[in-house]
Amino acid sequence: MASASPFRIVHTVCSHDCPDSCAVLVTVNEEGRAVKVQGDPSHPITQGFLCGKVAKYLDRVYAPDRILYPLKRRAGVPKGPLLRGREHEAFERVGWDEALDAIAARLQQVSDQYGSESILPYSYAGTMGVLGYGSMDRRFFHRLGASRLDRTICAEAGGQAWTSVYGKKLSTPTEDFALAKLVIAWGANIHGNNVHLWPYVEQARRKGARLIVIDPYRTRTAALADWHIAIRPGTDVALALGLMHVILREGLEDRAYIERMTHGFEQLAERAREYTPERVAAWTGMTAAEIEQLAREYATTRPAVIRMNYGMQRSENGGAAIRAVAMLPVLTGAWQHRGGGAQLSTSGAFAWNENALRLPDLQMSSPLGREARLVNMSALGEALESRDKRTEGQRDREGLKERLDMHALFVYNSNPAAVAPNHNAVRRGLERADLFTVVHDLFFTDTTDYADYVLPATTFLEHTDVQGAYGHYFVQLSQQAIEPPGEARSNVWLFGQLGQRMGFAEPCFRDTAEEMIAQALAIGPDGHAHNAGMEHITLDELKKQGRAPLALDHTQPFLPFASGTVPTPSGRIEFYSDKLVTSNIDPLPGFVPPIESRWGKAAAQYPLELLARKNDNYMNSTFANLPGHRKMEARHDQRLEMHPADAEARGIREGEAVRIFNDRGAMELTAMTNEHLPAGVVAARMDWAKLHPGATNINALTSERLTDIGGGATFYSTLVEVTRA
Ligand code: SF4
Repeated sequence: MASASPFRIVHTVCSHDCPDSCAVLVTVNEEGRAVKVQGDPSHPITQGFLCGKVAKYLDRVYAPDRILYPLKRRAGVPKGPLLRGREHEAFERVGWDEALDAIAARLQQVSDQYGSESILPYSYAGTMGVLGYGSMDRRFFHRLGASRLDRTICAEAGGQAWTSVYGKKLSTPTEDFALAKLVIAWGANIHGNNVHLWPYVEQARRKGARLIVIDPYRTRTAALADWHIAIRPGTDVALALGLMHVILREGLEDRAYIERMTHGFEQLAERAREYTPERVAAWTGMTAAEIEQLAREYATTRPAVIRMNYGMQRSENGGAAIRAVAMLPVLTGAWQHRGGGAQLSTSGAFAWNENALRLPDLQMSSPLGREARLVNMSALGEALESRDKRTEGQRDREGLKERLDMHALFVYNSNPAAVAPNHNAVRRGLERADLFTVVHDLFFTDTTDYADYVLPATTFLEHTDVQGAYGHYFVQLSQQAIEPPGEARSNVWLFGQLGQRMGFAEPCFRDTAEEMIAQALAIGPDGHAHNAGMEHITLDELKKQGRAPLALDHTQPFLPFASGTVPTPSGRIEFYSDKLVTSNIDPLPGFVPPIESRWGKAAAQYPLELLARKNDNYMNSTFANLPGHRKMEARHDQRLEMHPADAEARGIREGEAVRIFNDRGAMELTAMTNEHLPAGVVAARMDWAKLHPGATNINALTSERLTDIGGGATFYSTLVEVTRA
C-alpha cells in the first residue's frame, strides 16, 4: 500500500497589485512549512507559471527580517528615517493585548478631543484579496467615524474615464488576444508587469499579428515590438485624436456600428477635425506621416486590440487620454470582432456585495451620525500638513472643540512614505510629534520609521481570502496554506479585534473570514442580484474547485460591447458625456498640455519632463527590500536615464553623479544615457527612500496636483532640471 504523501498542496491566489491574479499552488510539508510555490497549470491565464517577483515568494514569507511581533516606539525616539537593519532598536516588543488596548484608547482620545474625522485610514492594494483590501477595516473606520480615504493613487482617473465612455469596466478577454491581427500596447508594459497576457500576444504574433507599442519609455515590451512609438509624456490624448482625424477623413470608421451603439458622434467628429496630423506631430514628437500610417494600419486591420494600462492616466490630462484611446475601437467597430476591442480592466465584471462587506451604514452609529468627509490619498502631504480651513462658526455647528487637523493615521496595505507623491510634504506630515501613527506591515519600511506602533501582517499564504482580477474573469479562493509566523495577523483579525476593544457591540466585528466571503458572494436582502454573473458561485464550490468563471454572457464568445445597451446615462457608448459637463469637465476629449510639461511656464526653469517609473521586478515599493529582487533591478538602481543630447547639453557624462531637482525636492543619482528616450525626457525608478543617501526617493520631485478626471496622482507630469552633482 502506497504511503500518504507528506506534502499537501493548497490553492492560493497572488494578492499583489497586478492584473493577472495568478492561481498559486503552495506545497506544504509535514512541519507546516511552505516549500514550493508554483503557478496552477490548470488555470487558463496563469498557465502554470509565475512572474519573477513571485516565483521567489518564499524569500519574502521566510525573510529573516520579517516583523513577527507588535512593536511600540521607545520613549524619546524621534520619528524619521532609521538605519536599515537596526530599526528594531527604536521599538520595544509588546503583546497584542497591550498594543490593541493602547491603540483603541488613543483613537478614542483623538476622536473625543479633535473629532473622529481627525483619524485617517490609509490603504491601497498591498493586497488585492477582497477581504484584505476592504472589508473589516472599512467596518471599523465607518463605525469609528473616521475620515474616508478617496483611494485615487493608482487607477481612479482611468477607471472613471473608461466608465464615462462605456458605463462599466469590461474588456476584451485576455485569451482572445491570441486571435488579434494587430495588438497595440498603449502605455502598457505587458512583458514587464502583465506577463500572463504575453503568451497570447506571442500566439497572435506567430500567426502574423503585429505588435505596436506606444510608450515614452522603451520598456521590455517596446524592445520586443514591431514598431515602438516613443511619444512625449502626456500627449496620448493628442495622438488618439490625431488618429481619429485620419480615420474620419479617410472614411475608415464603421458608420453602422457608430449609429447603432453610440452617443455624440457628430460632436466628436467636429473635435477630431482640429487634430490634423501636423498639429499632433508637433505635440507628440512623431511625424505626420507616422500618424497617418498608424491610423490606417489600426483602422484597416481586423481584429485589432488595444491593451492600455494605468500608467497613461498618471498625467494631468490622464482622464482625457484614457477616454480618447478608449474611443478608438468604437470608431472602427473593433468590438464586434473576437480578438478586437480594448483592455484596461475587467474588474467591473465582479459584482461583490460590497455593502454587506463594508457596512457603510455603520457611519450613522458613529459619533458623526453622517457620512464622513473624503480625503484624497494622492494629496496625503497636504492632508497631514495643512490645517483645517473651517471657520469657528462651522466648527461649532459640527460640535468640534478644535480645528479638524489629522491627529491619527492608520496605515495598512501601503507604504506612503515611499509611494505617495510629494515625498517631502508627506515626510513633514509624518514627522509631526502630535500625529499618532499605526502601521500594519510585514517589514520595516519607509513608513514604519514614523510609526508609534508597528503591527505584524500576513502574506497571502497565511490567511484566507477571495479574489477577482482586473486582467481576467475568474473568481478564486485563496486558502490559508500555513500558520502565520510569529504573531503576524491578517487585516480581518486586526480590525475585528480593534472594533471589539473600542466597545463596538455590533456582531459584525466578530465575523470570520469564511463568513465574510459568503457575505461578499451573497445576493442582497432585497433579492437583488448584486452579484450578476456570480449567482452560481458559492464558497463550497470554490473550496472544491479553487476558482469559478464568471457567467459573462449566455452567448459565446464574450464580446462586451458588440451590441445591446451599456450602463451609461444614454444607454449608449458615449463619445460625448453630459455627466462630465455637470462636473465642469470637457465632455469631449481634448488635448490640454499638462502644466508640468515642456509647454508649461515652469519649463523655463525646469525644462526636463520626468518619468518617475516603477521597477519591473518590484510591485511599487513591495519586494524592494529583498536581495534577490534588488539584484534583478541592479542595472537601473539609482540611475537617471537621459537622452544623450540632454546629457551633452549639461556637460554630463555616462556614470557621473548628477543632481535632479525642482521646487519640491532634489536627489542625487548616477547618469545613464538612453538614446531611446525622447529628447527632453528623463527617467528614474521609484525605490524605498531609506535605502539611499538623504533618505529620499524620486517622489521628492513629483507633485500632488491631481488628474483632470477622478482626482488621481500625476506622477508622470513632473518638470525637473538636472546638473552635475
Ligand atoms: S505579481 Fe502578477 S504575474 Fe506575478 S504572480 Fe502575482 S499575479 Fe501573477
